Amino acid sequence: MAPGILQDPGKREGKTNCESYDCHSDEYRSGSMTFKFKDRIYAHDSVKNALLEAQHSKCCYCESKFRGQSPGDMEHFRPKGAVQQERSEKKEYPGYYWLAYSWENLLVSCSSCNSKKSTLFPLSDPEARARSHRDDMGAERPLLVDPASEEPRQHIRFRGPEIEPLTKRGRETIQVLRLDRSGLEEDRREKLDSLDKLKLIAGLGEKVDREPVEQARKLLEGAVLPDAKYSSMARCFLKPDNALEEN
Ligand SMILES: [Zn+2]
Repeated sequence: MAPGILQDPGKREGKTNCESYDCHSDEYRSGSMTFKFKDRIYAHDSVKNALLEAQHSKCCYCESKFRGQSPGDMEHFRPKGAVQQERSEKKEYPGYYWLAYSWENLLVSCSSCNSKKSTLFPLSDPEARARSHRDDMGAERPLLVDPASEEPRQHIRFRGPEIEPLTKRGRETIQVLRLDRSGLEEDRREKLDSLDKLKLIAGLGEKVDREPVEQARKLLEGAVLPDAKYSSMARCFLKPDNALEEN
């Protein structure tokens, strides 16, 4: 359910932008006119907090946990101001302006993923791209996996801390967001090392004092729950045969 501020004034603001586009489409297409989006609406505390809760305070793309120092950036899955098919190609204007205040298009990401993705939003057929609120978005086949409406584990898996594509869309998602970037992989490796040690303790069973064994088992059970840091990787490591199973 979308927070109230996206209904009103969000919807009203979206309608004003659509009307403005209808009057000045050439100017918006050339980039000589640009929309002034209001972050006090789409990044309002009520919106961001609802998303943080739904995302278990993790980046929607890389599953890093948000901390006090880095509370996350508001992210538009379909970029609002301009759009690019590939990094090497020119930006196209005006982007998906009509989705700037749309609940379904909003996420919270870490600043690294946000800057890597930037205005990139590749489609399998760029000719099918909706260029205005009058076009049919249903014809688009996005190459990025939408973490809000799709199951990323159908497209991506982990071998140890290394991320691997299972599909073409998984490959594109890894490339656009650089989910194989070294800092992220190092952080995942650290998490995996501690899981590995816990697994060793949990496997000692009856041979040692039961308490640390039980505690290690509980920590391992928690590591695959949705609110755990890098839980997709943990699931591939700890439950390789049923990584897709729901909790
Ligand atoms: Zn991230």
